[in-house]
Parts: sequence; structure tokens; C-alpha cells
Amino acid sequence: MKNKLLWAVVAAAIIYTVFSYRKADGVDIAAADLVLMNGNIYTANDAQWTAEAVVVKGDKIIFVGSNMDAQTYIGKKTTVLDMTGNTVYPGLTDAHTHLKWVGQRELGLNLQSIDDLGQTVDKIKAYAENVADGDWIIGKGWIEQKWSDQRFLHKSDVDDFSVNKPLVVTRGGEHSILANSKAMEIAGITRGTPNPEGGQILHDENGELTGMFVDNAMALIRDHIPVPTREEEKKSLQEGLDFMSRMGWTQVQEAGGSYADIELLKEIQAEGNLKTRLYYFMLSGEEGAKLLERGAEYSDDNMLDIAGIKYFGDGGLGSRGAALLEPYEDADGKGLVLIDGEKALAVYIEALKKGIQIETHAIGDYTNRFVLDLYEEAFKAVPQGERKFENPRWRIEHAQIIHPDDQLRYKELNIIAAVEASTVKADLYFAPARLGSERLKTAYLWKSLMDQGIHVTAGTDAPVEVGEPRVEFFSLIARTDFNGYYNDDWNIEERVDRNTALKLMTINAAYAAFQEDIRGTIEVGKKADFSVFDKDWMVIEPIEIMDSETVMTIVDGKVTYSR
Ligand SMILES: [Zn+2]
Repeated sequence: MKNKLLWAVVAAAIIYTVFSYRKADGVDIAAADLVLMNGNIYTANDAQWTAEAVVVKGDKIIFVGSNMDAQTYIGKKTTVLDMTGNTVYPGLTDAHTHLKWVGQRELGLNLQSIDDLGQTVDKIKAYAENVADGDWIIGKGWIEQKWSDQRFLHKSDVDDFSVNKPLVVTRGGEHSILANSKAMEIAGITRGTPNPEGGQILHDENGELTGMFVDNAMALIRDHIPVPTREEEKKSLQEGLDFMSRMGWTQVQEAGGSYADIELLKEIQAEGNLKTRLYYFMLSGEEGAKLLERGAEYSDDNMLDIAGIKYFGDGGLGSRGAALLEPYEDADGKGLVLIDGEKALAVYIEALKKGIQIETHAIGDYTNRFVLDLYEEAFKAVPQGERKFENPRWRIEHAQIIHPDDQLRYKELNIIAAVEASTVKADLYFAPARLGSERLKTAYLWKSLMDQGIHVTAGTDAPVEVGEPRVEFFSLIARTDFNGYYNDDWNIEERVDRNTALKLMTINAAYAAFQEDIRGTIEVGKKADFSVFDKDWMVIEPIEIMDSETVMTIVDGKVTYSR
């Protein structure tokens, strides 16, 4: 009996000794929670670019290296995931998403990726049949550039089958809508209704309404759509989260939300269904003012951070809403600036003092200059020492057409260019016509900005685009459509190499959210976020990337999506 007790004590001592030696960076790794084995792992960390295995304890990575070394971390309660045949990337971030709109698109009439006008109208018609008289037909995502007849939708396309049903279908760029005659009747729009500031009501050559409303004119119709119920809003947000997680994203940087949505997102979080991290920008105006008052809110686990304010500086290039320094090549006019500079500057100054991040949508070269001027003025008004963050990491979203005189100002002012690569496969059809070949050289700059030492990150702008990592990665390295097509003047040399593309979607996006120390690479001490796909994007033909599928999405060491 005594002997047995003695042996038990000795055995316990041995086990204790063995386990207490198994420490890494002060973390007791006696029982790793999760081990990814046999992986084709890309870390986005230059010091150790590839690995076979990753070990996770709690929400953190505690080891990156070989299968053999990882074995020693496996205990009884460790979950071991065999990654054979799959490729593991650092948790991917979409640096620019409109989460609720993505959910609304997925749940409603989705007109995305239909390459034919007739089929688009047929889909609207089929949907309309199930809508009761008096109820609204609401859809999203149509885009004319691949139709043989490259024209905007017209009220006459839809009026026949929607006599008693008001209809609004948003064009892919999210900067214009088609309304039917019933919707215009409800809104009290006639051919004499004047354009609102920053918006356009389109008329045909006879002065007749076409049903198209651009930028600020969209509100004339949209304000009459019944407000969705709280439950509907929550459902849209949940669908957006589920969709983005399914696509393989571990973080979404929201480009214009509200506190009402935050309340719903907190409910979703309490229910355990917040599947991707959210880094949140409030829409300017009322929501932005609330944020200025309340201050930024960072969560302990960085699952839901309310960080900044989003401004819309102009419209899109497709709908000719982008504000240009010189007129459009294919139409009269220079587009529209949507920002009141004086009001914005007052907010920017407050934000700088309080450590609230600013991001401003700027597509045209006029708007890029306008916003850089405002940022510069704010920086002068609030010198270092009076700011919460010395480098506030303010961003320009899209940063799409930048006059040569303004490109270096991004560097001088330390502004992040948050580009949308996924949109080029559509834009390359109309951008040459809108801009002409000279000005096209100043558009969609990626590589040259990075070469000048400017911080660049990448986002999809979903639901303007579907919102897929594979499309974003493909677009960054190919810069063509899916058939390899591009226009002769299309600065193809602005595409980036694969390592850079991976960084743009991981560590650079983390930097744009002040999170480069905790996320963005697969490195010891960082958050255990991984995006697992069935294909190796770093070696296959670019177009094959489009055949790859999400295998698994892991956030904070927890599997949030599995195929
Ligand atoms: Zn956007």
C-alpha cells in the first residue's frame, strides 16, 4: 500500500515536471485547446512565411511550426483538426462591407450576376407575383455592363406587372435605383420635380421620367418604403454575418452602420451568433454625432469594436456620380460632391481630439483632393499632443482616381488607401469610357501607392460586389475579369504579387483597424483567426482561385463555419 502511494507521488511529480517544462512564452500549454495539423499554412509573417501546424490555447496562437513539434502540445482535451489537402490563411478581413445590406440582398430579391436584361426583368417579374398588392417590391444588385443592351433599367421594363405594387431595385453600385410608376406616384414625383442637392432624377430626351434616381435623389423614393421591423433588421444582420463567415471572412469592417444595428448585433452576440469580428464605422450625421458624444468603444475580445465615422464623399463612377476635376469623357458634367466641407471639418477636428477614426468614401479625383484637404486642415487644427492618437490612421475608401499631384499627399498625411479590388472586374468595362486613357492612368492605383510607402488595404464593398475573399484575391493579383480581359490602357502593372495580396487582406487590414499587434498574421501571441480553403491561392493559376471553396472559418480559436 505504502509503495503504491509512493509510486503515485513519484508519477505525479514526473507528470508535473514534464508538463511544467512544456511552456511557451509563459503560457502553460499542458493542454492546447486546438491544433491544426498537416496544413499548408501561410502565415503572412515574413519571418516564417509557411508552416505545417498551429497550436491554439484559448483565443491565442501559442505555436507555429512543424507537425512533429506540434504533437507535443496535444493533450486529452485538445481538438485536433487534420488540414490535409487544405490551405490555411491568417483570418481574412474584408476592410469595407455594408453588413446589413449584404443580409438584405441574400434574403430578398437578389439581381446580382445576371448577365442579361431580359433575365433580370423576368426575375423581378417572378418575384413580384408573390408580392401582395400595395406591398413593396424591393431588390438589389442589377448591373447593365454585361447586358447586350447596356442601358439602365427603365420604368417601362417593370410597370406592366407592377401596377399596384411600388417597386425599387437598386443598381449594383448602390448609388442609383430604379423606381416604378407606382413608387413615384406614392412619392409624389412628377416630371417637374427638381433635383435635390447632390442628386439627380433622370429624364429621357422628351423630359419624361425614366424611373432612375441617382445618389441623393434616391431618398425621394426610399423615404416612402415602410421601415423594416426590428425583427427584420436583426434577421438581415444575422444573415449578413452568416454569409460573410461562410465566405471565409473572420472580420468585417463595417462602412456605415448605426447604433440601432449595434443594439441588435449585441443581442446576436449574446445569443452566441456573432460569427465574424466587427470593426465598426458609424454613418456620418446623427449616428456620427452620437459616436462623437459617446466615444469609441473597444471590446475586450475585439469582436465588436465601435471605432469611427464613415463619410460618403461622392457617388460611383458607373452612375457618373463620382466628382472629377475635369468633365467626364463620355458625358457632360463632373459628378457630385456629397460632403458639406465645413460641417465635416468640425466633426473631423472633434474626432481627432477624441481618437475617433475617420473614413471617407472618395472615388473621383476632385473628391480625393477635397478630402485630403479637409484631413490636412484638421491635422493642422489639432497638432500632435492634442490628439488622442499621434497617427490617427484615417482612411480614404476606394481612393479610386487620384490626381498625380495628390498621390504623395497620402504618404505625407499618413492616410490609408482602402481600395476595393473586387470592383475592377466590373469597372474595367466602363472606366475607360468615363475617364479616357490619360486619366485612366491615375485610377485604381495599388502597386504604385505601395511602392511609395503608402498604407493600402483591400475590401469588397459588398453588397456592391458579392463579398468573396477568392474574388478579392483574384482581382488583386489578376486585375482582369474572369476571362482575363482588360482594356489596353488598363494599367495592368498596378496588380500586386500574391504575397502582397495576402497581406492586403490580413495584416494591412489589421493595421487599418489598429489591430496589427493582435491579428493579421499567424504568429505566436496573436488571435487564433484562420480562414481555410481547399485550394492554394499562392500557387495555382489565378482563374482556378475562383473554383476554391471555404473549408472552415475559425475566430478566436472557435470554428464559426465548417463546410
Ligand atoms: Zn461602400
